[in-house]
Amino acid sequence: MSTGFNTTAVHAGQEPDPLTGAVIPPIYQTSTFVQDGINVLRGGHEYSRGSNPTRGGFEAQIAALEGGAAGFAFASGIAAEDALLHAVLGPGDHVVLGGDGYGGTNRLINQVLGRWGVSNTPVEITDPAAVAAAVRENTALLWLETPSNPRLAIADIRAWARVAHDAEALLVVDNTFATPFLQRPLDLGADVVVHSATKYIGGHSDVLGGVVVVADRAFRGQALAEAVGFQQFAGGAVAGPQDSYLAARGLKTLGLRMERHQQNAATVAQWASTADSITEVLYPGLVTHPGHELAREQMSGFGGIVSLRFGSERAARTFAESTRLFALSVSLGGVESLACYCSEMTHASVKGTPLAAPTDLVRLSVGIEDAADLLADLEAALATVRAVGAVPTAV
Ligand SMILES: *Cc1c(COP(=O)(O)O)cnc(C)c1O
Repeated sequence: MSTGFNTTAVHAGQEPDPLTGAVIPPIYQTSTFVQDGINVLRGGHEYSRGSNPTRGGFEAQIAALEGGAAGFAFASGIAAEDALLHAVLGPGDHVVLGGDGYGGTNRLINQVLGRWGVSNTPVEITDPAAVAAAVRENTALLWLETPSNPRLAIADIRAWARVAHDAEALLVVDNTFATPFLQRPLDLGADVVVHSATKYIGGHSDVLGGVVVVADRAFRGQALAEAVGFQQFAGGAVAGPQDSYLAARGLKTLGLRMERHQQNAATVAQWASTADSITEVLYPGLVTHPGHELAREQMSGFGGIVSLRFGSERAARTFAESTRLFALSVSLGGVESLACYCSEMTHASVKGTPLAAPTDLVRLSVGIEDAADLLADLEAALATVRAVGAVPTAV
């Protein structure tokens, strides 16, 4: 990326339409492209599963922002993950799977890929020695999410990359929470970045999408871009032109939105740190957070997600059901604030396992509204918690 982040976000892959001069590239809502002779293609496009100009523009935009060799857009974050895993793994391979991650990633790797002979070992992400100890002869891939979900633990991407490369395995980082505005995993040694574009990239809770961005690197004798590109075409879970347009449009304002998200998140985290019914505030921007120094070093900000612990399940449930501006909902990263009771919502599929979310935890996706209104909403919800006597008696 030779230009600054916001310049790249607005312009990479988003050049005006050469035919009409339209400043915004058109939504190419077409399945197929006319050929001027057999296999004589006008713009390199044949069929929209293989390539589509609207999707291609978004793929170039996100690849530039992540500093990758190529980007690939899919119908959802999970579709992107599924395509990547099918592109690089085979039966008999082993995955080192960072714990405290997205529940759906866990479900995909365990319940789908498990049936195809791919095994995995979950690990504590903040302990590089444990990560190294989990590597086996057949380890092909390490999967990391940092900041983690919903505990917001910070893992050392460089240390994970060293472990991966010593094992001749790939390091994949799910960068959904940080976004390339705050963290560029490929610069820190990761081989692949994945995103749920449904979250901060789209940014307005109005589109599902996913991306894979690969470094200019080969795995088992094949360039990663070639392997993922083939799987995207062969598996076919591509992003459609309308969805690609929405994701590209959202991505242009990612920097502006993230600045506001994290400014509001820091305000919420500070407020929560002094609120007497909240027993713990998980936000890497707080100096008391165990990953604070590492986050300062490998990120350029601390993000827009804050998790609160209440010391009791009843208090957490009451709080999550009492906010008004913070809508009770799964997902995150939109301009509007959301509250999630992860243990029964996003992380229900890993309930009762070591990967379960704490039952006293509420995750907040802090939106771009006015901070005073957000604090008033949280104050009112806390008052409800106190009124129903759901404050913890002992922690
Ligand atoms: C939402 C999410 C996913 C899955 O993405 P979808 O777009 O819902 O398929 C993967 N990773 C993280 C961190 C997420 O938050």
